[in-house]
Amino acid sequence: LQPLLDLSLVGRAGAPALDDATVGPPRTLTFGDVDARANAVARLLRARGFAAGDRLAFFLPNRVEVLDLYLACVRLGVIVVPMNALYKEREVAHLVADSAPKVVVTTADRAPLLPAGTPWWDVASLAREAAEHAGERVAVAIDGDAIAALVYTSGTTGRAKGAMLTRHNLAANAVALTTCWQITAADRYLAVLPLFHVHGLANGVHCWLASGCRMRLEERFDAARAGDVLRAFRPTLVFGVPAVYVRLLELDEATARDIGSHARLFVSGSAPLPAHVHAAFEARYGHRILERYGMSETLMTIGNPYAGERRAGSVGFPFPGTSVRILDPDGAEVPNGTTGELWVRGPTVCAGYWNRPDATAAAFVDGWFRTGDLGERSDDGYFTLRGRGTDLIISSGFNVYPREIEDVLLEIPGVREAVVVGAPHERKGEVPVAYVVADDPFDADALRAECARSLASFKVPVAVVRLDTLPRTALGKVQKHLLPSAEGVAR
Ligand code: ATP
Ligand code: MG
Repeated sequence: LQPLLDLSLVGRAGAPALDDATVGPPRTLTFGDVDARANAVARLLRARGFAAGDRLAFFLPNRVEVLDLYLACVRLGVIVVPMNALYKEREVAHLVADSAPKVVVTTADRAPLLPAGTPWWDVASLAREAAEHAGERVAVAIDGDAIAALVYTSGTTGRAKGAMLTRHNLAANAVALTTCWQITAADRYLAVLPLFHVHGLANGVHCWLASGCRMRLEERFDAARAGDVLRAFRPTLVFGVPAVYVRLLELDEATARDIGSHARLFVSGSAPLPAHVHAAFEARYGHRILERYGMSETLMTIGNPYAGERRAGSVGFPFPGTSVRILDPDGAEVPNGTTGELWVRGPTVCAGYWNRPDATAAAFVDGWFRTGDLGERSDDGYFTLRGRGTDLIISSGFNVYPREIEDVLLEIPGVREAVVVGAPHERKGEVPVAYVVADDPFDADALRAECARSLASFKVPVAVVRLDTLPRTALGKVQKHLLPSAEGVAR
């Protein structure tokens, strides 16, 4: 990992590295500046008694200090614990209790969300103090198998679990992505995703460091400013989640054409990218979005090809070094075209869950990691996801994959968002119920009739419930357990 970081920090010291568009007036830092800032924070942490294996959490939105802290910790072998900046007391309490950080770095307005007695530092005063510790790099030899970061899963399906990502994991992920996506120092990467998640951190920051490209760091994706930001920065590379691309479709044609003419690659992940968004984006921007699949626990494991067909609705092929098997519930490999659970093995799979021997034992079997995600492989080797195993609905003995029904609903004009869950049913066990965000006029029966045109009767939602918004995580994943109860609806 160290050589991968140093590659740009030292090797490209004079080159523009970072356009900071977060707090304060916009500024541009060189890789040398980034390195010097990290050195200062590392020296400060060392002076405060931090040693390899200690945990340091950051509870901050995107800002340059997050990078300073991250790089300083990695240098010292201190385990970084990114905390979702949108989390509230209950979620924060879980992360703090579980990871037991020596300190949480945050802002004064967020500090009251920490459990009483949690040691915390204000990010502004930390930055001031670090400036007094400026100096040479602290050299500590750290093993590649050491944990670099404890990244908590998004908590989409329940309580977040801490994935222990090693330095080797992060390096392998960056090597695979920079190689497969041909990221070079000539690239301009727009960073709008949160640095507290692997999408922004392991993919974004590490590809930036590995390639020496120029990064513009935004506090978050702001749809209202997106057109201006994209036109001003002219990124060649954008990492986004589906919600980002949906919003980018709202920009006018001339702006989209201008942005598309400077861009090289748009990547999507973290949640399913609807096929119609893929098609609409290509029509407007002239680029086929590259969809890939990954998890906090495994980093990136499957991705569409950079050169070659980027297939809408598919996540492509395993990355180099990664093996993927699709197994049925009895542990037998399924034939192509049949849905099963994805098991992955490779250099980016984490070392286990922090403090969770039970969850670790359940997920890590004979050197393989059970993703819990369902998918299938086509005869020409493309993988397609079919949703999470826990989302599978079994209705009268039939397997019903919510994702298939969601895809059908999303094709219907006026349906903006759709999610399908199973509701308990006396005779059938479970039946599908849909929740949608839809334009006026809303007609639930018409939507069901539309579904019935392309789906077998047992897959047609027994009810379609209209909501103003769907409960989503910071990265736009639908949190099914937070939907209103489907119990009464199905009767
Ligand atoms: P938790 O494990 O706490 O319930 P989470 O699984 O959402 O939360 P992450 O590790 O952030 O936490 O997300 C990984 C999951 O995101 C994958 O297991 C998969 O279900 C989903 N995912 C990632 N990429 C894609 C994609 N391209 N299409 C569909 N789903 C995706
Ligand atoms: Mg998960």
